Amino acid sequence: MRCPHCGSLEDRVIESRENASGTSIRRRRECLACSYRFTSYEHIEEKPLMVVKRDGRREPFDLKKLERGVQKSLEKRPVSQESVEEMLHELEDEAAIVGKSTHEISAKELGEMVLRKLYALDRVAYVRFASVYRMFENVEEFVKEIERLSENVTPLGDR
Ligand SMILES: [Zn+2]
Repeated sequence: MRCPHCGSLEDRVIESRENASGTSIRRRRECLACSYRFTSYEHIEEKPLMVVKRDGRREPFDLKKLERGVQKSLEKRPVSQESVEEMLHELEDEAAIVGKSTHEISAKELGEMVLRKLYALDRVAYVRFASVYRMFENVEEFVKEIERLSENVTPLGDR
């Protein structure tokens, strides 16, 4: 860390002390260049990613829950467990990137992310997921989506 006295980046830690709840660490440091002593604090980044539902309620992002939904839509489909796991890892990463600054992702965004992945993986699972999670506003929209699928048009582009 940069010495507040001389600006040198070389220091040694003299003492580290964790707070009672274990959420932060206080370190006493000594500059190797000028021997100035200073303190730094480390805090745990503990804001979880929250999923904002349509009615405005928030719940923590839950990969297990997402996995159950995905597995359900893939029931009896010829998709390997490995592909499913890979997909879930990608989803987790992408959701974290989307929610990087706000720590939030809308359920709709998350759902569309899942749909894009499922679309590439298995079309039947895609339709199942979309219908179970009511990703569409109404029946007409859903039917339109199915028609688009059968026309082999990418359903989730720029809208
Ligand atoms: Zn210094």
